[in-house]
Amino acid sequence: MTSPRVAVVGTGVIGAMTAWRLARRGADVIALDTLSPGHDRGASAGESRIFRTLYKEGSGYVPLLQRSGALWRELELSTGTRLLTMCGGLTIGPREHADVRAVRRCAEEHDLDHEVLDTAAARQRFAQHRIDDDEIMVFDPAAGVLRPEPAVQAALHAAGLAGASILPYHRVDEVAETARGWRITSGATHFDVDHVVFAPGPWARQLDPLSTLPVEIRLITAYWFATRDTAAHRPDRLPIAIRRHREAGFSCFPVLDGVGIKIIPHHLGWPILHDPAALPRSAEPEYARAASEAARRLLPGVVPHPVRIGTYAEGFTPDEHALLGPLPGHRNATVMTGFSGHGFKLAPVFGELGAELALGEPASHDITALDPGRRAD
Ligand SMILES: Cc1cc2nc3c(=O)[nH]c(=O)nc-3n(C[C@H](O)[C@H](O)[C@H](O)COP(=O)(O)OP(=O)(O)OC[C@H]3O[C@@H](n4cnc5c(N)ncnc54)[C@H](O)[C@@H]3O)c2cc1C
Repeated sequence: MTSPRVAVVGTGVIGAMTAWRLARRGADVIALDTLSPGHDRGASAGESRIFRTLYKEGSGYVPLLQRSGALWRELELSTGTRLLTMCGGLTIGPREHADVRAVRRCAEEHDLDHEVLDTAAARQRFAQHRIDDDEIMVFDPAAGVLRPEPAVQAALHAAGLAGASILPYHRVDEVAETARGWRITSGATHFDVDHVVFAPGPWARQLDPLSTLPVEIRLITAYWFATRDTAAHRPDRLPIAIRRHREAGFSCFPVLDGVGIKIIPHHLGWPILHDPAALPRSAEPEYARAASEAARRLLPGVVPHPVRIGTYAEGFTPDEHALLGPLPGHRNATVMTGFSGHGFKLAPVFGELGAELALGEPASHDITALDPGRRAD
């Protein structure tokens, strides 16, 4: 019996992981991308990503996160690449903030290790964050920092070792259903496959069969700030953090490459982009000022003017949960998009689920909540 031939369209972190898990299962995989592996024009770049297990987005994610953690380790071992540093994670905010309550509830529901630091203990242990008198910290030991660019490359390397054909600089121009599966057209080249997995990230609506999916493109900007005491801001002393101050919210990443800590402000929202190709290279002054102000007010050990700014595009769904499942209205097609700012840590398990769906295997986790055909209300 010949192996099923599967095309993966898009090799950001989601497509790369799917190609890896498909090839590991013996599928004949081709994985195409317009750009190069680990490029910085989509959603899967920018030096660091948060991995955490106390999940404010819903405790139903915990089994997926645990499986993802195991797969990150498997990928590290099979490629000899360090991708995930378990520096722990903090949720910081007023005791009654919805996110602080959500992570505590998640810990209780799944009996997960965690520490609740009252204001005094938090100030003593993590003085890198300036906190107000009503703020606390919840520490998640099963959290860490991921390296996005090496992660994409490692997944594609592992996919290639397992037999996948990785085709960068192959934009998919057209996809058409055939009697047996799909015909994929990239320039003058056609590929006939049994199944197609669409993993085009924020470009989803530019592909014809995906054009009506409820995915909106948003611009997310990251800011790096130089630290006065760099050693105090490295992962061995500074966990990743989600900050929920009443005046500002951001995610915070320790120093990795010596440049500085990174923050991604949340409190001004993320502007809508109509085309990922229109990604600006710099930040609007209003956003840059807000990031500087948050750093000045809440991170006492940094020089509060960014030394580096990175802009990225991500696809968001109305309920901010991914679309992952059979493509509605089509046969032999799986769609994986709309990861809404929290897909990276889950990419290995999402890739595994994508592979299972593409090969007609039962899904190893309940993902009905991610059904691409669900109603928006
Ligand atoms: C700045 C930022 C910070 C984030 N922080 C976190 C975090 O800390 N933790 C976390 O878990 N998640 C985080 N996320 C979310 C996570 O990074 C994304 O959900 C994830 O990277 C989405 O990956 P993707 O593969 O779907 O998209 P992408 O990485 O954008 O990949 C899509 C790929 O498809 C290709 N493509 C598109 N159309 C075509 C076509 N027609 N033909 C061929 N190729 C095509 C593109 O070139 C691209 O390479 C963050 C996202 C951003 C933007």
